[in-house]
Amino acid sequence: MKLIICRWQRVAVLFFVLASFLNLSHQLEAADHAESLYSKAASNYHRLYDDPVFASNSDNWLRTIKQFQIVQHTYPTHYRAPASLYNTGRLYRSLFRIKKRQIFLDRSSLTFRKLIEDYPKSKLADDGQFLLAENYGRFEKNKHLAVLEYKNLLKWYPESDFRKDAEKRIQLLQPPHKDLQIYAVEEKVSIPVEMATQRYGGLAEAEDDPERPQVKVTKIDYWSTVDWSRLVINAKSDVRYKYRILQEDLSHPQKRLILDISHAYLPAGMQKKIASNDGLITEARIAQFDKKTVRVVLDMVSLDKIKVFHFKLPLQYKIVIDIQGQHDLSELKPAARSRDVDQPKMKESGPLSLSRVFGLKVKRVILDPGHGGRDPGASAFGLLEKDVTLGIALSLKKIIEQNHPRIKVLMTRKRDKYLKLEARTAFANKNRGDLFISIHVNASPRPRIRGVETYYLNLTSDNEALALAAKENQTSLKSISDLQNILNDLLTNSKIKESSELANKVQKSIVEMTTKSSHKLRDLGVKKAPFIVLLGAQMPSILVETGFLSNEAENRALRGKKFRYTLAQGIYQGIKIQMN
Ligand SMILES: [Zn+2]
Repeated sequence: MKLIICRWQRVAVLFFVLASFLNLSHQLEAADHAESLYSKAASNYHRLYDDPVFASNSDNWLRTIKQFQIVQHTYPTHYRAPASLYNTGRLYRSLFRIKKRQIFLDRSSLTFRKLIEDYPKSKLADDGQFLLAENYGRFEKNKHLAVLEYKNLLKWYPESDFRKDAEKRIQLLQPPHKDLQIYAVEEKVSIPVEMATQRYGGLAEAEDDPERPQVKVTKIDYWSTVDWSRLVINAKSDVRYKYRILQEDLSHPQKRLILDISHAYLPAGMQKKIASNDGLITEARIAQFDKKTVRVVLDMVSLDKIKVFHFKLPLQYKIVIDIQGQHDLSELKPAARSRDVDQPKMKESGPLSLSRVFGLKVKRVILDPGHGGRDPGASAFGLLEKDVTLGIALSLKKIIEQNHPRIKVLMTRKRDKYLKLEARTAFANKNRGDLFISIHVNASPRPRIRGVETYYLNLTSDNEALALAAKENQTSLKSISDLQNILNDLLTNSKIKESSELANKVQKSIVEMTTKSSHKLRDLGVKKAPFIVLLGAQMPSILVETGFLSNEAENRALRGKKFRYTLAQGIYQGIKIQMN
């Protein structure tokens, strides 16, 4: 008996030794594999810089980039992972210098940013930070962003070898104060459309080189209601466009918008009629107007206001046309007219209450859990932003429905699904929301940063707010500053005052609510920034960043259902007053 036990024990021990050896050898094998992948990529990397023949084929560059990306992707915790990102950033940067294509520069900057954010403690993080600043300063010619990134280097990596260089560059670049001005936004009630005036957008005339290759128009999306429509033209890269509005006359009894995209082409077989008799749109169509121009024609029942703007994502360029008009009111269903009823009488004095600013009670709330599907948002310690935002939004929906059975809560997504930014706002407008709340979670390369902040749409001169908007918009800081410029025009009709009021209430009540919980959120205040997801929303709208995933304690809190519920309660208390 004894012997048998002994033997079994021996077998067990042997098994254990064998198992841990196998496990260890498995790990070693993986590490070996990472190492061999990395060394293959590294030898190609050196060849690209040493062998002009090899370097003359851009496929070799792209292949080497891919090899590094595979190392980082497959073995994100391997010690070669940060170097793989760093080399990827450098290769894209060189490729940009050879090919002069903006996309390579964007990718270079995005890669350096990922390096800084995902591996803040790596020895290469400050190198990445420096080259990111250089990208902005030397190639983008954006002094403002370059200075911001050099300053980040000084702030986050005070021991860096690049410290002296960064200081020197800041001195050279330090922009005069006029670059930092805050644009005043006038609160006009409505702007009449300037009929028949030709307007331009997108690339500047000087950049519109007639010799450059034509850009492919890939897709048209649209959303339409009786008094609002949004049309989004998707193209492969930057374009220049012009548009004008024709008044109705005998030959065309509709209001008509004509938008021409130059140096563009429509692939064969792309649908010519986009929409007909849908809400405000009588007909929308797209066609190759001449060899180099794609034309969009939009006939509308009526037209009061129009906003045309564009923005850029990696490998995508979008032109958005938002129109507002009026259908015969008698055709509207009662639900859709809810905005006109229940108007409380305005008082002339007294503090500005939300209901006074809003002038109506909330009947429909739109909740927008940030990111989803193939877009995880921020991530840290294995926790993904998209999961946290969905958890909070679902809790908030439940709380509102329990307390206010008559209020309708609609969600842009109820599950782990990818959704374009412009589709989220369109969903809110199409469903005639009275409030739009976009829920996000922040992350920072500095692990100590924590707290909650609430945003509303506006121009800003706050660098950190701009950087956050770039991240949430999935775009580069360069595109954000472009967006700031066009925003000036677009904001005249947004509900800025209401949104800022709403942001203040929600911010305050989240902080209060978490004070009583296991994790008190630091109050980072109410801020403004150009978020694409809020752009064009017709109702008061805010974006809440409910904490930092990158802070270990906050990350732990955000994992729990209970804390997500507390956050939902906080948002609810901030908007509740509108619902009674
Ligand atoms: Zn986000």
